[in-house]
Amino acid sequence: MKYCIILLISLSSLISCQIKNSNEVNIYSQRHYEVDKIQYKNFEKLTGIKVNVIKAGADELLERLINEGKNSPADLFVTVDAGKLQKGVGVGVFQKIDNNIINSNVSNDLKDLNGYWIPITYRARLLVYSNDRVSKSDLSTYEDLANPKWRNRLLVRSSSNAYNQALMSSLYANLGKKAAIDWSTNVVANFARDPKGNDRDQVKAIAAGQGDIAIVNSYYIGLLLSSEKQSEVDAGKAVSIFFPNQGNNERGTHINISGFAMTKNAPNKENAIKLLEYLTGIEAQSTYVNNGYEYPANPNVLPSKIVQSWGGFKRDTLDLNALGFFRNEAIKVFDQTGWK
Ligand code: FE
Repeated sequence: MKYCIILLISLSSLISCQIKNSNEVNIYSQRHYEVDKIQYKNFEKLTGIKVNVIKAGADELLERLINEGKNSPADLFVTVDAGKLQKGVGVGVFQKIDNNIINSNVSNDLKDLNGYWIPITYRARLLVYSNDRVSKSDLSTYEDLANPKWRNRLLVRSSSNAYNQALMSSLYANLGKKAAIDWSTNVVANFARDPKGNDRDQVKAIAAGQGDIAIVNSYYIGLLLSSEKQSEVDAGKAVSIFFPNQGNNERGTHINISGFAMTKNAPNKENAIKLLEYLTGIEAQSTYVNNGYEYPANPNVLPSKIVQSWGGFKRDTLDLNALGFFRNEAIKVFDQTGWK
């Protein structure tokens, strides 16, 4: 009898432990957008699987994965930069994701060729310009931002930001070292002010007359235009969108992805797969585009109305892993050319 009770207790604790493990998924997230909360709530409602999120910078989270090793509770790592995903692959903290549903949900040209990460959305790092002081015909390419005609007119955030580092990585990969250095030198000479603030602040600065054109991520314009603050709506309305490098012989506008990777020792792998199936599916993709204004990784979903109104564009088809491979070189270019 005594042994039976002990056996029963240990069996039930084993079962409850398994239930506990199988009913959650743990994410290390660098993303900082409200839409993610909606997504994880919806997934929890649908599946009963609890989504736990720990937020920090991408480098910090990768460091944590390295230090925790096999004991890491994390199942998934999500970031807004293919460069950081490539970095994670390089330090060996991920495992490949091989799942037909997920793979067929997302566009081939946004995928990791090696199968280590999955894109959920993408964004263009594009140009916005003052409706009052710039005409569309003045704009053409990223390269043209080095033109002296933009002296004291260009606004952009600091080079410590991953969005700018990814852009510079793309220029370095596409044009080579010398062109990247020359470009950065001349772009810095065109700054309207020392880099400060985030992407939204550059748009607000145009609206306030502190500069005429800015380099920003596409979705921030959608977020400004749909903001509850009238000042943000006004800032969004003061500018227009321009997709650079769209000419016939040009490579297209630089994009980056938001993407997930599975950690090497994911303790809740099945749940993580379920979450990725959900997030790349039609319902969640619509939630991303209509609340966060990024572009969908699933080609069967349309961007939000606001984003559609900008028209389509040609994307730079550079292997997105290059945004990681050239990262250190990009940072050196910034340091060498005085981009603060
Ligand atoms: Fe952002």
